[in-house]
Amino acid sequence: MALEELYREVILDHYRNPRNRGHLDNPDAAAQGVNPLCGDEISIEVTFDGDVVSQVAVEGQGCSISQSSASMMTEAIKGKTRAEIGEIVSRFRRMMSLDEAEDPGLDPERPGSVLGDIEALQGVRQYPVRIKCASLGWNTLMDALGS
Ligand code: ZN
Repeated sequence: MALEELYREVILDHYRNPRNRGHLDNPDAAAQGVNPLCGDEISIEVTFDGDVVSQVAVEGQGCSISQSSASMMTEAIKGKTRAEIGEIVSRFRRMMSLDEAEDPGLDPERPGSVLGDIEALQGVRQYPVRIKCASLGWNTLMDALGS
């Protein structure tokens, strides 16, 4: 399977079967975000166990890129500390940046490639309008974490 096709499958899978969908009973932090260009909406709730995100829940509507990216984000941050999440978010942002100069660690041959499914979104960076869709969940997360 061509890489691009594989990426499309990963995105559609997260869109059709979003991970960590719903609401939490007593979230420690929450934020809402919208991308008016596309009509995407995301609401994120998290709970902490010490410094670790123990639970995360997302609700939202919009295009497949925005919703699947948020789903991938929830998987990436669960069980991680604030510092680890900051690192994941900055890797994501480097990946989405067209003029990225650094190696963001996206070599698929590398075991433990940090971003996992999220790498499927790197094709999106060719479409600047869609970068806002892909980034919505991540920016909303950072709002929720107050960073
Ligand atoms: Zn969108």
